[in-house]
Amino acid sequence: MPISFSIKGLTKLYGSGTTAVRALSDVTFDIQAGELIMLVGPSGSGKSTLLNILGGLDHATSGEVTFQGQTLTAMNDRALTAYRRKHVGFIFQFYNLIPSLTARENVDLVREIADNPLSAADALALVGLTGRMDHFPAQLSGGEQQRVAVARAIAKRPAILLCDEPTGALDLTTGVQVLDALSEINRLYKSTTLVVTHNADIARMGSRIVKFADGHIRTIETNASPAKPSELVW
Ligand code: ADP
Repeated sequence: MPISFSIKGLTKLYGSGTTAVRALSDVTFDIQAGELIMLVGPSGSGKSTLLNILGGLDHATSGEVTFQGQTLTAMNDRALTAYRRKHVGFIFQFYNLIPSLTARENVDLVREIADNPLSAADALALVGLTGRMDHFPAQLSGGEQQRVAVARAIAKRPAILLCDEPTGALDLTTGVQVLDALSEINRLYKSTTLVVTHNADIARMGSRIVKFADGHIRTIETNASPAKPSELVW
């Protein structure tokens, strides 16, 4: 598989002087295209900071990140915005749907900025919501709203799917449905997928598990037999 991201000596400080927080410290590893990587570690260990830099939402303090040979860490905000729009789908803990738009309309918003998007109906079918396309967010359960957010993220067929605690607000049954949708999309579309979780059990579905502590990578484990979401319990 070709390399998707190459990350070298990545360091991120927030603030300066005696109040500076070192959120990431000399993080180095490569991510192959199509991998499903789980980022685990305690709260505050730097997982979201890494995701935000890979997604072009934040700037590194030092070090280098390249995506398919383009150096993200050398890009200005305008170039990062173009990168993000073209290549990256985000899923956050809270679904951030627009309440006055239906599921279909929420997905359509992202399709407008994409080159070759899936139809909203196809994206919603992939997450099992064909019957709920014309419902508003308030008419959907938390798990269904998160699946609309997944459909919205994948509608532009992103090369990269970045998920920050995607099941953090969900119970086990609905969380498994969301993780099933993510793993299916990773399998079908080969989107390079990174999932931040503080939950060690969810991490078992990854093909690699990267453990963070205090802004450092502690271990990178290759998982020869990733678990199916339905086998997970948390
Ligand atoms: P995690 O995702 O593992 O919970 P984060 O990447 O969110 O960790 O945070 C890493 C560290 O950086 C924490 O100490 C956090 O308080 C700090 N941090 C994150 N974002 C900011 C910010 N915008 N300003 C200042 N400190 C921040």
